Amino acid sequence: MNFEDLKKFFFRKPKNALEGSDEAAPAGARQPAQNGAAIPEKLAEKCEKCGQIILSDELRDNFGICPKCGHYKKLDARARIALCAENFTELFAEVEGGNPLDFPGYDEKLASLRSKTGEKDAVVCGTAFIGGVEVALFSMDHRFQMGSMGHAVGEKITAVFEYATERRLPVVGFVLSGGARMQEGIVSLMQMAKTSAAVAKHGEAGLLYIAVLTDPTTGGVSASFAFEADIILAEQGALIGFAGPRVIEQTIRQKLPAGFQRAEFLQTKGFVDRIVGRKEMPSLLASLLQLHAAPASEQTSAAEQLPASGQTSAAEQAPAADHGGAAADKRAASAADPSAAADKQPGAAGEETA
Ligand SMILES: [Zn+2]
Repeated sequence: MNFEDLKKFFFRKPKNALEGSDEAAPAGARQPAQNGAAIPEKLAEKCEKCGQIILSDELRDNFGICPKCGHYKKLDARARIALCAENFTELFAEVEGGNPLDFPGYDEKLASLRSKTGEKDAVVCGTAFIGGVEVALFSMDHRFQMGSMGHAVGEKITAVFEYATERRLPVVGFVLSGGARMQEGIVSLMQMAKTSAAVAKHGEAGLLYIAVLTDPTTGGVSASFAFEADIILAEQGALIGFAGPRVIEQTIRQKLPAGFQRAEFLQTKGFVDRIVGRKEMPSLLASLLQLHAAPASEQTSAAEQLPASGQTSAAEQAPAADHGGAAADKRAASAADPSAAADKQPGAAGEETA
C-alpha cells in the first residue's frame, strides 16, 4: 500500500466546495467531523476521543489512527477500499434511492449528502484484488446518514452478491451502519430480507463471504448481511449490536457490563471470529482469501462459463467516479500484459481477455 494512493482518498475535500458551510468556516467555528460532513482539508484536527490536536498529515500517514491514544477515526468508503484492495473497479454506481414514503425533507437531505460526499448513497460496490485474489466488495460510508440502509444500499449489496455468485467470486464487505434508514420505513426493513436472500445464494454456491465489521455496525444491518458472513472480522473497539446500550438498559432495567457491544466483548461471546487492527487488516484479508481461493484449474473453468452479456454490462456499469476510472485504467493496463496476469490470476485474466 503506498501513501500517495492513500492521500488521494483520505480526507478528501468535498466535490462541491460551495456546499457545506463547515468547510468554509474559520478554524475556531468548525463543527466536529462526526456531523457527517466530508473531512475538510486542514493542517491539524482534534481527536474525537482524547481531544488532542494532531497534524492531519500524521493522522493520514497513520491510517486514520490517533497517534496519541490509538483511537480509530472513521474511514469513508473509498478510503477503506484503498487501504485494503487494489485495482478497484466500481459497479452499480448508477443506483440511487428515492423518497418512497414522501418523508418530509428527505429529498433535500439526500441532495445535500450527495453533493457533500460525492456519493449517490451510503455504499460503494465493485471488484478489486486483495492479495492477488479477485473479489467483489462493498464498503459503507459513515458520511452518508451513518451508513444507514435504505432501498439503494439494499439494492447495491444484493446486486454485488448476485454478481459475485454468477462469476464465482468471494465477497469482502466493509460494514458500517447505524441500521435501517428510518426515512424509508418499511422499504428499508425489506432490504434485510432481500440482502439476506442474496447472501444465502452466494453461500449455497460454495463461495466465501468475509465481513469486516467497523464502528458502528448496528440495527437492521447487524441483523442481516453483517452477521451472515462465513468469516466475521471486527475492527478493534467497534460498536457492534442491534439496539443501542441505552435502549437496552432502559428496557431491561439493568446495568450492562463494561465494554458491552464492543468488538472485544462480542468475540468472547462467539459472535466475532477475530479482532483486527486497522494496519494488519490488508494482510489478514489477503491471507484468508488466498487460503480459500479455488485451485487454478477450477478458476479457469469458472471463467469459461462466464456469459458474454455479463461482461458487457460490467463494462457499461464501470465507474463514473474519477477514482474508479483510474482504477479501470490500471486494470486495463494489467490486462494488456496477459502473461503477467495469467501467472497469478487465471480466472481474472480469462474474464478480461475473453
Ligand atoms: Zn486520540
